[in-house]
Formats: sequence, structure tokens, C-alpha cells
Amino acid sequence: MSIKEQTYIMIKPDGVQRGLVGPIISRFEARGFKLVALKLVHATPEHLQKHYEDLKEKSFFPGLIKYMASGPVVAMVWEGLDAVKTGRVMLGATNPLASAPGTIRGDYALAVGRNICHGSDSVDSAKKEIALWFPEGIVQYNTLLAPMIF
Ligand code: ADP
Ligand code: MG
Repeated sequence: MSIKEQTYIMIKPDGVQRGLVGPIISRFEARGFKLVALKLVHATPEHLQKHYEDLKEKSFFPGLIKYMASGPVVAMVWEGLDAVKTGRVMLGATNPLASAPGTIRGDYALAVGRNICHGSDSVDSAKKEIALWFPEGIVQYNTLLAPMIF
């Protein structure tokens, strides 16, 4: 766990369509995480198949790729203390019906197939996902972050 830990967070096409980009970004900013990369991308099925490679045997895989390719996503990298695990807690459970109120999915979603956001599940997968979505690299800058001081 480090204050430089980075996680890949993505607002899925339904989150973009529903106008939830601002509220989702606000939660990460308010929590104290630092935004180090952000772009709007309409990803190809091939790119999304790489992103979800681990799930390729699942019955929902074709539908998942179609959903994720249905419109642009907001691809982001957030940095800060325990960013990977804390990011997942902020998103809520995969199935929004099991997500606690106060989490992003618990506040804004109902269906597992339309759960509005993605977050890396480990530091290792965060590294792979960041390399896949930001081959151009991550911005470096300094901030005076009160939440980071401990
Ligand atoms: P998470 O996004 O929470 O890491 P997974 O990696 O298990 O969850 O699955 C990736 C995505 O695939 C989920 O966020 C969801 O959009 C979709 N998905 C997972 N399980 C199902 C399912 N049973 N039916 C339809 N879509 C699913
Ligand atoms: Mg996952």
C-alpha cells in the first residue's frame, strides 16, 4: 500500500449516457484521490476483449463486449493511498442489487449488466489496465493534498 498507488477507473457507456461523469469524478476528488489520466474513448470490441480477457469463457462475455462498445467510456487513472481497494469499495459490489447505499453502484444502478463503472481488482491488474488504456503514459504533477498527509 503506497500513497502513489494507482488504479484504473472507467465510467462505462451507460454512466456516460446517463450524465453520471461529474458525480463519479466528484466522489474520487472529494475522497482525496489525485487524477493523473483521463480521456473519453469509444473503444473497439478488440480493445475491450483485451481488457476483459479473463472473462472470455463467461456466457455473458459477448453481451459485455457489445455493451462496452455501445458508446464512449471515460477512462481514468486515480492515484492515492490504497487506491485499488478503496476504489473498489467506492464502486460497490459487481451486482448493484448487492451494493450498499453510499457506493456508486448502490446509489445509481440496478442491473449487473448495466453497472456504470469499472475499477481494477488488484495492483497487478491496475498496471495491466493502465498500460492498455494509456499507452501514451500518465501525467506527472505535484499537489498539496491534505488527505494524503498522515
Ligand atoms: P467487476 O466489474 O465488479 O470487477 P467482473 O470483473 O466479475 O466484475 O465482471 C466484469 C463486468 O462484467 C461487470 O462489471 C459487469 O458489467 C459484467 N458482468 C459480470 N457478471 C455478469 C453477469 N452475471 N451478467 C451480465 N454481466 C455481468
Ligand atoms: Mg473485474
